[in-house]
Amino acid sequence: MALDSKIPQGPLADKWTNYKNEINLVNPANKRLIDVIVVGTGLAGGSAAATLAELGYNVKAFCFQDSPRRAHSIAAQGGINAAKNYQGDGDSTYRLFYDTVKGGDYRSRESNVYRLAEVSTNIIDQCVAQGVPFARDYGGLLDNRSFGGVLVSRTFYAKGQTGQQLLLGAYSAMNRQIGRGKIKMYNRHEMLDIVKVDGKARGIITRNLVTGEIERHSAHAVVLGTGGYGNVFYLSTNAMGSNVTAAWKAHKRGAYFANPCYTQIHPTCIPVSGDHQSKLTLMSESLRNDGRIWVPKKKEDAIAIREGKKKPTQLSEDERDYYLERRYPAFGNLVPRDVASRAAKERCDAGFGVNKTGEAVYLDFAAAIQRYGKEQAYVTHQDANDAALVKKLGQEVVRTKYGNLFQMYEKIVDQDPYNTPMMIYPAVHYTMGGLWVDYNLQTSVEGLYAIGEANFSDHGANRLGASALMQGLADGYFVLPYTIGDYLSHDIRTGPISTDSPEFEEAEQNVRSQVDALINNNGTKAVDYFHKKLGKIMWNKCGMSRNATDLQSAIDEIAALRDEFYKEVRVPGEQDEFNEELAKALRVADFLELGELFAKDALTRNESAGGHFREESVEEDGPQKGEAKRDDENFTFVSAWEYVGKPKDAILHKEELEFDNIELKQRSYK
Ligand SMILES: Cc1cc2nc3c(=O)[nH]c(=O)nc-3n(C[C@H](O)[C@H](O)[C@H](O)COP(=O)(O)OP(=O)(O)OC[C@H]3O[C@@H](n4cnc5c(N)ncnc54)[C@H](O)[C@@H]3O)c2cc1C
Repeated sequence: MALDSKIPQGPLADKWTNYKNEINLVNPANKRLIDVIVVGTGLAGGSAAATLAELGYNVKAFCFQDSPRRAHSIAAQGGINAAKNYQGDGDSTYRLFYDTVKGGDYRSRESNVYRLAEVSTNIIDQCVAQGVPFARDYGGLLDNRSFGGVLVSRTFYAKGQTGQQLLLGAYSAMNRQIGRGKIKMYNRHEMLDIVKVDGKARGIITRNLVTGEIERHSAHAVVLGTGGYGNVFYLSTNAMGSNVTAAWKAHKRGAYFANPCYTQIHPTCIPVSGDHQSKLTLMSESLRNDGRIWVPKKKEDAIAIREGKKKPTQLSEDERDYYLERRYPAFGNLVPRDVASRAAKERCDAGFGVNKTGEAVYLDFAAAIQRYGKEQAYVTHQDANDAALVKKLGQEVVRTKYGNLFQMYEKIVDQDPYNTPMMIYPAVHYTMGGLWVDYNLQTSVEGLYAIGEANFSDHGANRLGASALMQGLADGYFVLPYTIGDYLSHDIRTGPISTDSPEFEEAEQNVRSQVDALINNNGTKAVDYFHKKLGKIMWNKCGMSRNATDLQSAIDEIAALRDEFYKEVRVPGEQDEFNEELAKALRVADFLELGELFAKDALTRNESAGGHFREESVEEDGPQKGEAKRDDENFTFVSAWEYVGKPKDAILHKEELEFDNIELKQRSYK
């Protein structure tokens, strides 16, 4: 099937407006005749379900948690971007568009990103109207902070709990519709297959996670807002339950999977402490506004610190290497995540790491505490030369800005970050890849849409901070409700979709046989055994830096691990009961397929772009020496993979990217 991204004609800035003026609409009475399934109730799915129901469609919403409130979106800490230019620092729709395309290393679709920047301002108005308590300055106006890769302050935030507050807004909007009977909510239901009738997505098969019952649900269209797949690495900052199953099942039914290898490794996470761990913790990027990143200049000092013989606070300014400020003076500590992550790895690989495993760098707030403390002393007419007072006042400011993050760090690491620098290291955080979608957010299966982190759109090869929430809410509140209407306008006379058809029967049997096979497999090894092994392969061979030899061996190792999984996995308990191990086994089975496609995609893309760093593609000389080298001549495309039986046989389709409004340059943050 040829890829048609359905980008509207006309100038970039007019595309979305013209599109909205020209699409078919569904009148309010006809909306009542149409059912839409929304799988996922995070920020993308929750906002979409609420908006579609508000418009009048009959929505069936599904999530695997016990409440939409527990979607992984709740974990988002730092903030959400919008081109409001409230700071008057030169921001605009164009600049947000430009930063996002550049930040993604020119591997995203211009038209989608421009639309994202355009609707970003509506998101803030919508959320404020819902009562989301964004941070405000002393005068009561909405406050902003900066995130990596940009030179303006456009990030709106609610302390370190932005995702939670935004999700409460979307959840309240959903609840209103649940109360009106316009949304039927299916908590603790896991979607395990898509049902296609005459080539169109017309329903899903779910498993009730409490009773084990396998159910059929039909609709005129299906929307997946099922999140990202970072947990293919086992250790990540994602919620433990986040998984690829819904997207992968859609892929197996014909939806192309785009750029699976584009993963974001976030530079500021609490370092791994050992093999017992099943989860990593993010320290929000907002901390890079005030924290300075460094390692000791001398290896002896790094060794002494690792051996517990020296403390970081004993090192003078001269003995510290603020390597981001040194290498990237223009952006300093606020370089994009991919750049900051690789720079940390480079220092640690060179022997300057500061924790026991040698895989940690410092994030230090001492300078910010001094700066804020002095300012407060002046403002309150106290003695700015009183060191103890300045420290106390400065700590209070830092506590107000980041208190919950500091507390979280202290609880996990048992060190006080107000008095000693935090230790951080990169960890898997977000997946830019996902289901391929056209401008309408429709996948390559008619009637099947993907929104939020589940699709590949908008971020290219790297996601800038605070842009995932923006994309999820743009998709759910402001884009999908229009684009899906155009599609559904052809369904006003279709009538209810029956679940009593051979297609539903076939899909249900497909799910039953998979569940039966796993539960009756009398293996000896737990699901986690395979997940951990997969994670190690992914991290070591498809992680922050990749090369052809390792990627090829990852493909072989993952295929072998998958064979072993089906021979050796043991799933205790029964299928018709609450059975966490069974749910996990079904998810890990899909990760074991996705992992192989991931490595295959990475192997195919022999260039370094954003979160995808190929050791074979590095700038050899000139001012960018040692930096990632993109290959625009050969790789300015989106990889869209078609499933044809096994991941290794997947067929590559290329969506060539055209840049009419931005000049492609090697990224530089110096
Ligand atoms: C620790 C952390 C902090 C972050 N901070 C920020 C930030 O400050 N700013 C920012 O922009 N981004 C941030 N992000 C990224 C951002 O939070 C996510 O990309 C975003 O919330 C994803 O939203 P979503 O709605 O697409 O998916 P999710 O919130 O992951 O929701 C997925 C939904 O799908 C459901 N689901 C999944 N599979 C199935 C299935 N098979 N059947 C039924 N239901 C299913 C789940 O139950 C859930 O309801 C952060 C990410 C992490 C990990």
